[in-house]
Amino acid sequence: MKIVYDKIGQSEKPFELTLNGVTLEGTLAKSGYHRVKLEGNLEGQVELCCDRCGDMYHYDMKYPLKLTLSDEVIETKDDLDIIEFLNGVVDLEFIVQSEIASVQNEYHYCKKCENNEEEFEKEF
Ligand SMILES: [Zn+2]
Repeated sequence: MKIVYDKIGQSEKPFELTLNGVTLEGTLAKSGYHRVKLEGNLEGQVELCCDRCGDMYHYDMKYPLKLTLSDEVIETKDDLDIIEFLNGVVDLEFIVQSEIASVQNEYHYCKKCENNEEEFEKEF
């Protein structure tokens, strides 16, 4: 789902899209000359591969998402929650895709291994 930057107004515009089993539901509203505020919730299941035993398992993704979108180059990179859309088009699929990728790129254990680790720690 792509939304032209200039069509986003001051009043919150609701949207919803699902990509690879993950739904992002929220609103977009202009918050400054080159800024759009995205507030929403991500919910869905992603398939992960355990970093310890290699098993595939499902991970329930559910958390609120607050981002600032900009159509100009951000000079200060202090705020990691700013995403640049320099061609003037907000690509919501890209946002969902990068959220899924960041979960997949984290180091993660399946439930079985998580429990094993707890037992392991108790021995010391
Ligand atoms: Zn595992």
